[in-house]
Amino acid sequence: MKPKKKLIRQYAYAVTVFVVVTMAVSAIVTYFAQMKQYRELAKDRIRAVGDQLVAQLMEDPQDFLDHIKYYKAHYEDIRIPCDFNECVTARDEFFSSFRSEYHDKTFRTDVAKDEMPLWLQNLYYTYRHEYWMLAFEKAREAYGLPYTYFLLCDDDSHYTTYMIDGERTEDKEHPGYLYMGDSYFEEPSSHTLLWNTYHNGIRYDDVYEWNNEWGNTYSCYTPLMIDGKCAGLVVTEINVSDVDSMILKNTLLLILQLGVMLALLSAVLLFYINKHHIKRINHLSEQISDFASTRAYDTVDSIRMYSYGNDEIRALADNTADMIRELQIHEGKIAQAAQFKSDFLANMSHEIRTPMNAIIGLSELAAKEEDPDKKKQYIEQINASSNTMLVIINDILDFTQIEAGRTEIVPVRYDVKQTVREVVNVTAMGLGEKPVKMNLNVSPSIPQYLYGDSARIRQVLGNVISNAVKFTKEGSVTINLDHEPLEDGQINMKIRVADTGIGIMKQDYDMIFESFSQVDSKRNREAEGTGLGLAITKRLVRLMNGTIEVESEYGVGSVFKISIPQKIADSAEEKQKTKAADKLHAPSAAVLVVDDNSVNLFVAKSLLGTFGIEPTCVASGELAIKACENRSYDLILMDHMMPKMDGVEAMNIIREQFPAYRNVPVIAFTANAVEEARDLLLNAGMDDFLAKPVKGSDLEAILRKWLPAEKIG
Ligand code: ADP
Repeated sequence: MKPKKKLIRQYAYAVTVFVVVTMAVSAIVTYFAQMKQYRELAKDRIRAVGDQLVAQLMEDPQDFLDHIKYYKAHYEDIRIPCDFNECVTARDEFFSSFRSEYHDKTFRTDVAKDEMPLWLQNLYYTYRHEYWMLAFEKAREAYGLPYTYFLLCDDDSHYTTYMIDGERTEDKEHPGYLYMGDSYFEEPSSHTLLWNTYHNGIRYDDVYEWNNEWGNTYSCYTPLMIDGKCAGLVVTEINVSDVDSMILKNTLLLILQLGVMLALLSAVLLFYINKHHIKRINHLSEQISDFASTRAYDTVDSIRMYSYGNDEIRALADNTADMIRELQIHEGKIAQAAQFKSDFLANMSHEIRTPMNAIIGLSELAAKEEDPDKKKQYIEQINASSNTMLVIINDILDFTQIEAGRTEIVPVRYDVKQTVREVVNVTAMGLGEKPVKMNLNVSPSIPQYLYGDSARIRQVLGNVISNAVKFTKEGSVTINLDHEPLEDGQINMKIRVADTGIGIMKQDYDMIFESFSQVDSKRNREAEGTGLGLAITKRLVRLMNGTIEVESEYGVGSVFKISIPQKIADSAEEKQKTKAADKLHAPSAAVLVVDDNSVNLFVAKSLLGTFGIEPTCVASGELAIKACENRSYDLILMDHMMPKMDGVEAMNIIREQFPAYRNVPVIAFTANAVEEARDLLLNAGMDDFLAKPVKGSDLEAILRKWLPAEKIG
């Protein structure tokens, strides 16, 4: 599958969503937090300005009370526009008029306010009004408040009316900042906070919140208490709508800056991730999919090449490359194995056909031959060919058994010198007429009795020495048996087999131990073999915890060195080896042979004949049952695989129907020689196992073991 390069897009989407969501959440949180804070500040401010104005009005409370009183009665007369200069002018005008009226007298000390003529009182209160109004105007301007004014209540109706307003107006009807008579509200219920403040003389924490065409406004009412009586209310107002929108604007601006910064940062991060990670992942993924479609093993180099850095991607690339390398090795091995197999089959076919050819051709000739000497010669050759074939088949079976891990090492006490001598003698027969000298050197110090799997040691030695014999045309084959002491009553048995044969090239040292391999096949074309001998040998040696090595000079000769650890057996122990007995002779033994194959029956009958036994031969399970009904046998050789009724079934019926047979040994007699078949038959109740093709010596051992002692001569 081709990669779709989705990774960077997914990252980009994720980052965008992250930035947008972060911005939205921060905007909302910031806006509301700021708004709440600002509104509290706004309330604090109008309260503080209210307090400040009240403090100012209380500088001279009596004067202010007089002012209110006069104002209520004469507000029409003192209604004039005002600013700081006007206030100064009004003051100067009053004091200069006072001086011209009263000369050296002092205002208030010598002349009280209400003693002055009305025109002078007008001048005085105009000046005071200007003075108070200036205070309201200054507070309004200094704190950026839209409104600051003083509310009075009508004495009779208690309805409030404006008195001092901090706002300039161009109103022609009310040309000053102050006017009386406008009813601010008429019903107490329509403005509870204001009504309660005025009548209770307490400033409440609450502000009056209202909306007009300019937006959301807060009003704070601070009572002016003189002599425990509320003389009026200072009203300070603030408009929060502008600030709300300003906060919104500022918040958005801030968030926008944050967003831009986040976006820039994300872009840099994405660029970095893309350059250092995603591109490498994409490359890797492309290489892997290329490899998947092309199976080009040189992709590995490119995978490794791009895996710079020392991070997980590097590990991924390296591991992938390693895996591909391993795959390559495995594929190579599979191809090699397939090649080996076909070579092996071809070889096997040749190996089996050659003796088979001899057996068939010679048996035909033998059947027709009248001359007993020639007949004997043919039969001897047939026997030799059969043995060759058995070796091949045993090799194959052996090898599969070892490969499947079913071969066990069974240690016994054995005479090592004799064992080696016997193997050398048997293999020396393979030399035939060849001008090759066979030497055996046994170290006198090697313990005579060892404890180990003598049968496997024979097999190992047999393979190596017979190879030496096989591949040496002239010269010598020299076998050395020596040892090296180990701890705990063990020795390392050392066997060295040196020949002057064709030799093995260095590059083939490992290969000759592989299964089905024969090297230099042109040169050793004449030499027969399955290519399994050394493979089996190496595995057996390994099973016995030993080693096998080869050293060779091509065209000069080879040396195989085998080393196997063995326990030393107590030499005082009685020799357990069965003495070579005289050939078995048991003419009185009653033996039943069951086999559906007439040739097998013939072979068995002939072999039993050599021990003086005249067996009963039957060709099926049913016939075997019948035979047992009529006669009692000392031993039954029972084939396993037969049509209709197999050997195990027949045995079970016989043992069930005829109680006398419960203790008569039944020996499995089968061509299925693998270990499982053996276990299966023994578990099914068979007493022992005799593999086909059967050898005289094996049959003899079985007869000795199972025939009643009195029948053995
Ligand atoms: P084979 O049945 O062919 O003898 P082996 O596994 O025993 O199979 O040996 C594998 C190959 O190793 C032989 O075919 C031969 O080429 C080489 N070989 C083994 N022993 C010798 C030796 N002593 N001298 C030369 N070549 C040998």
